[in-house]
This record gives sequence, structure tokens and C-alpha cells, in this order.
Amino acid sequence: MLICVQARYRYRIEPTPAQRAMLARTFGCARVVFNDAIRARQDAYQAGEKLGPTEVQRRVITVAKQSPERVWLGEVASVALVQSVRDAHRAHSNWLDSLTGRRKGRRMGAPRLKSRKDTRQSVRLTRNGFTVRPDGSLYLAKIGDVRVRWSRGLPSEPSSVTVIREPDGHFYASFVVEVAPTPLPRTDQECGIDLGVSRLATVATTAGTRLDVVNPRHLGRKLRKLRRLEREKSRRAKGGANRAKTRRKVAVQHGKVARARRDYHHKQALTLVRENQAVYVEDLNVAGMVCNRRLARVISDAGWGQLVRLVEEKAERYGRTVHKMDRWYPSSKTCSTCGAVQESMPLQVRSWTCPCGAVHDRDHNAAINILTVGQTERPNACGAGVRPPFGVAVGDEAGTTPDTA
Ligand SMILES: [Zn+2]
Repeated sequence: MLICVQARYRYRIEPTPAQRAMLARTFGCARVVFNDAIRARQDAYQAGEKLGPTEVQRRVITVAKQSPERVWLGEVASVALVQSVRDAHRAHSNWLDSLTGRRKGRRMGAPRLKSRKDTRQSVRLTRNGFTVRPDGSLYLAKIGDVRVRWSRGLPSEPSSVTVIREPDGHFYASFVVEVAPTPLPRTDQECGIDLGVSRLATVATTAGTRLDVVNPRHLGRKLRKLRRLEREKSRRAKGGANRAKTRRKVAVQHGKVARARRDYHHKQALTLVRENQAVYVEDLNVAGMVCNRRLARVISDAGWGQLVRLVEEKAERYGRTVHKMDRWYPSSKTCSTCGAVQESMPLQVRSWTCPCGAVHDRDHNAAINILTVGQTERPNACGAGVRPPFGVAVGDEAGTTPDTA
């Protein structure tokens, strides 16, 4: 059984000024039909009517094109508009499923309307809206052949492409390709990961080794420069050309930070996946944790979410397993030697001694706990679906002979 996995390949593209103008128009039209589709569905939902995707598409594209207010929709590639309506449909159903509990995970908000002022604009094209030419250029429907900086080759024919304009003004093409998984040779080593701020990750392995992944604080290092630029921006007149120029400078710096961070996360994720057969990590509700403003910046600069997502992607590709654990597990407060749970463990405590005599580095202790609990939890997660109560060790005969803990 060969199941392909989806991967994204992203390249910088260099549209000509005329192509940029046409892309801007396409972004605009795709945004308008997206918003029209969302509104149509919200209205129908509130009125208690049922509105199928075909009818929505007919109303916001086919019929709209004939009206004087939307006649310009005919100027851009219709594949882009159709895809945009589909994306709106997906966003709306995800929200409905989340409301009714059919969709797992964090409760989702209603889909947000897109704005002309969003600094990141994008449009998605499926198979019949683009072609990669033999000469290496990218043909986009109604836009033409666009130059691509091929930093690496595409592994297979892409099924869709998203054209993005980032806030710093650069254009990118992000291809979705199906790749056959290439399992790495099996290893017996497994690891638990504790994500943190002072260190990005502290890793405990079944081999008893510890790996510290430093947090390079990509944003933190640029903060002084960014603050200066932000001050410069606020001095400029609103809506003026100089303000736009400074805003662009800020965006360029943020773009650099994001690229450096992504690059670093890719490397760290690959190392973790290569060296471990199974990776255990806490299921972090990052969004819920980001409440304190200063801590919020430090946490989003670390980018735990992106790191975990990359570990999952690579694990799927290389035949490894990632297991996310229950978020309520007190990994920092539990002694990994005797299992005693401490009453409190303030954030500033970096190391502590348990009454049993064990001396712990806070994060390494947490990583060991994540590894141990993850290993006992995993067989149940995909099997009978029985989760052992915390503190009960489960042997090979999962769930049948709970140890007296
Ligand atoms: Zn202890």
C-alpha cells in the first residue's frame, strides 16, 4: 500500500510590471467572490435556507459577471474565481462543523472576510489554471509566462499553485505536490520534546541522551531596528507615500526574520525526525497561551506551532510517528524519577530538587515525562481508544493489568 503525502514547494517568482498589475487584479477579484460567497452562505444560514455550493458559485460568479457592479470579474482567470469560491465553501463548512462538534480541535471562529488592506494577498489555481513550461517559466491563466527562481527541483507534477504577494512586495509560487513517502531505515530511538522559550526545545531520548535546541530569537535580534522603523513610520503622514515606504521597510525586515526562522525550523525538524522513530510532544494550545503581551511576542518568535507542523510533515514523509499528548498533563511539575507531582512550579524555576533526592533541569525533566507518558499513551490512541487515567502505568497488555501506582 503506497500512500502519497502532500508537500509544499515554494519559490520566488519575478512577474513583470504588467503581470504584477494583472495579478493585483486577480487577487482583487478572487477576494470579492470569496467575500460574496461567504456572505451568501451566512445569509442563507441565518435565514435557515440550504444553499448548495453549485448555487453559490452560480450566483457569485456566473450571475455576478452579468451585473454592471461585477462585470470586471470577466477580466481575470475564471479558474481563480472558482477556486476562491471553493475555499470560501471550505471555510464556511469548517466553521459549521466546528460549531456542531463534528470537527475536532479548537473551536473556530466564523470565516473572516478578506480585505483590500490585507498586506498578504494570494490566489490559488488548480491544474487547468497553470502549467510549468519546459523552459522553466510558469504559465498562469490570463497572466502569461512568469519567471521562477528554481531554488530546487519539483519532485513531481504539482496539483495546485498558490501565488502569493508578501507584505514586503515579493511574489512567491507555492506548489502542492504529491510525494511518495521515503521511509528512513528503522531506529529504536524515540524522544520526548519539551518546547520552551529559553531553549526552543529540550529533547530527551530513550537512549538516555539529552539534546538542547537553542532558541535563536530571530525577531528579538531585529527588535531594535524594527522599533526604530516603527517610530519612523508613525512620524510619517497617514496615507502618504513616505509612510508606505517605511511600512515596506518594516515588512522587509519581518520577511527576513520569517525566512530565517523557517529555515532553522526545517533543519531542526529534520534532525529530530531522522534520529527518532517516534516523537512525543505536548499538544499545545499556543493561541490560548499567548495572553501576556511580552510573553506572546517571545512565544510567537519561537514559533512552536511551525516547528511541530514541520516535524509532523517530515515524519509522515520519512515513515516516522509523531504523537501529541493531552495538554493537561503536568510535565514540568512531575518528578521523572519518583513520579511525585509538585504543587507549583513557577516559570522562573530552572532547576529543582525533588524530596526523593533527584535534581532536575526543569525542561529536561519535562521532556523525560513527555517521553514516558507518550509511550504509554500511544498504543491506546489508535487502538481501543481507552485513555488510562493519569498516573496508571500500562504494560504490554494495554489496560488489562493496571499497576498499582
Ligand atoms: Zn522525585
